[in-house]
Amino acid sequence: MNLSCDVIRDLLPLYADRAASADTAALVEEHLASCPACREELGRLGAALPAEPEGAEPLRRFKRRWRRRQVLIAVTAVVATAAVAAGIFLTCFRAAAWPPGRWRSLWNCSGQALV
Ligand SMILES: [Zn+2]
Repeated sequence: MNLSCDVIRDLLPLYADRAASADTAALVEEHLASCPACREELGRLGAALPAEPEGAEPLRRFKRRWRRRQVLIAVTAVVATAAVAAGIFLTCFRAAAWPPGRWRSLWNCSGQALV
């Protein structure tokens, strides 16, 4: 579709702000490919518009660090839980029979026979 420069210039602020739909953006890009005047207009708009809102980058960095920290906390919790469970198991429950194959009884922490 061949749109006039006036129509494209009406759409350029939306396009520059990435608020245009994919179809509109495709039409604008098609026009820009062959129209230096509108490319220049887009350059002016791009210079006038901030690349991203003030303070967005520190917030993004904080979110990234926060997400990484959450993963680290989750992994640490799983490892710690497994270590505590293994410690409880090894400390409190033990097979009494030795050599292997001659299991007679199993004691809990207080020494009472479970089996
Ligand atoms: Zn044009």
